[in-house]
Amino acid sequence: MAEQILVGAGVGSGVAFGQAFVLPNITFKAGSARFSFMAVKDSMAQIADDLEHQDADGEAANVLYALAAILRDPLLLDEIKQHLAEGASVDRAVRGSFASFARQLQKIGGYFAERSSDLASLADRVIRQLYGIPEKIVFPTTPFVLVTDSLTPIQAAGLTATAVRGVISSDGTPTSHSSIITRAASLPTVVGVIGAQNIQDGAALIVDASSGQVFIEPTSEERVHYQEALGDANAGHQPIEDDRMLPIKILANIGSSIEGQSALEAGAEGIGLFRTELLYLGRETLPTLQEQVFEYSKLLAKFKGKRVVARLLDLDLDKPLPFLKPAGKGRYANRGLLVLLANREVLETQLRALAQASMYYPTTELWVFAPMVITADEAEEFVALAKSLGLKTVGIMIEVPEIAEPSQLARVLAVADFVSIGTNDLTQYVLGGNRHNGSLALSDARDPKVMSIIEYVVAQAVLAGKPVAICGEAASDAESAKLFMKLGVDSLSASPALIPQLRAALAEVSQ
Ligand code: PEP
Ligand code: MG
Repeated sequence: MAEQILVGAGVGSGVAFGQAFVLPNITFKAGSARFSFMAVKDSMAQIADDLEHQDADGEAANVLYALAAILRDPLLLDEIKQHLAEGASVDRAVRGSFASFARQLQKIGGYFAERSSDLASLADRVIRQLYGIPEKIVFPTTPFVLVTDSLTPIQAAGLTATAVRGVISSDGTPTSHSSIITRAASLPTVVGVIGAQNIQDGAALIVDASSGQVFIEPTSEERVHYQEALGDANAGHQPIEDDRMLPIKILANIGSSIEGQSALEAGAEGIGLFRTELLYLGRETLPTLQEQVFEYSKLLAKFKGKRVVARLLDLDLDKPLPFLKPAGKGRYANRGLLVLLANREVLETQLRALAQASMYYPTTELWVFAPMVITADEAEEFVALAKSLGLKTVGIMIEVPEIAEPSQLARVLAVADFVSIGTNDLTQYVLGGNRHNGSLALSDARDPKVMSIIEYVVAQAVLAGKPVAICGEAASDAESAKLFMKLGVDSLSASPALIPQLRAALAEVSQ
């Protein structure tokens, strides 16, 4: 037997072999995620000192002194202190406070306003210093399995440029955004791995995403077994030609125009969820209209004669963006349409860019929808705005229970051209778990409390003659997908890597 076999939740399918590369941001120390305000203050003072003692003259020295002054600003320190006292993680407290400080500087104008754009990277530096994370991660150039405590979506997106073969994390769930990205990249991933901190850098690993197992220092029999399994899987890796007809459309979930190709190769009939967040993540400024038109056009060009459902920006403001004002309260704060309505320029620029790209590719059927819609009022406002800017088919996501209440849903279905059910969020908001860091499983979407909402929404949409789709990860879970198909949904949307098996599972029950 392997030295140790760890278990977690598998994401997608596939097997990876490689040596462990333990990400330097792993602290894996008990309680390390909690820092006292004094620790944060000391870290900021230390960075301020470093900046003041850096070798620079003239304008460069002025900039460094201005940044040092910001790090010592009592208002900024007070805000961080307050967030920490309210129970926020250090990451959220520091990034959130720096972002709101940046907005205040912008309002004041002048010299300090010019420094506001440096604040996100300054916040990053404070957090890195607290966790002892080096500025830049140098990934191995030989194949490796990434071992980490948690993975942010932006880190996940950056992995495809490395020699990574698989991912293991001690936090996370199969429906977190990072898991969605690694699944889309066909990277065997196991999340929520208990005991991941025992994995030593350089250890030989096998990652089995189907069973959620991680073998540390596997035996030669285990290696041979998995090599054979991998060989069989590769041998069966033919272009997808499953022409059995299904009563529903199978569409793909993607996060960038590049993935459009793999969606087509996997047999997707179109795109059911184009998550546009990657365009915005990690940026200091709003992507311009032209940048966005370019990205959307690249995708629409690949899908002539097919449907592309593009979703507007939905950021989980754990990592606030300097150009987005927070909005909302309670558990829906800082997400989805609420934030977009509070940031009209961001909303309108995205809608205009989509409308313009659609003009260039009129034979691609572009549908546009808004994420995390809480009330019918917001839905009505959104649909009217999108239509006034030239978009023809406009819908909304159903991913919180409030919008599925009869009085709200009836109004939504009166104005929206379609609805799409986001089971990832709906499940967490109905059952009260945390999809990014908790114990929610894909099958939880079949919990009676969640299913009764899905059944109601589908029935009402069908009655109203409006297409209803399922685009959360549960759409690629064979058992759930069969139920959704029976309910009469118009389409299911899944990661390209999972489409062939989804098609096969549905074809069996629809013959
Ligand atoms: C969902 O919540 O199910 C969904 C599809 O949206 P996201 O996973 O991007 O939050
Ligand atoms: Mg969602």
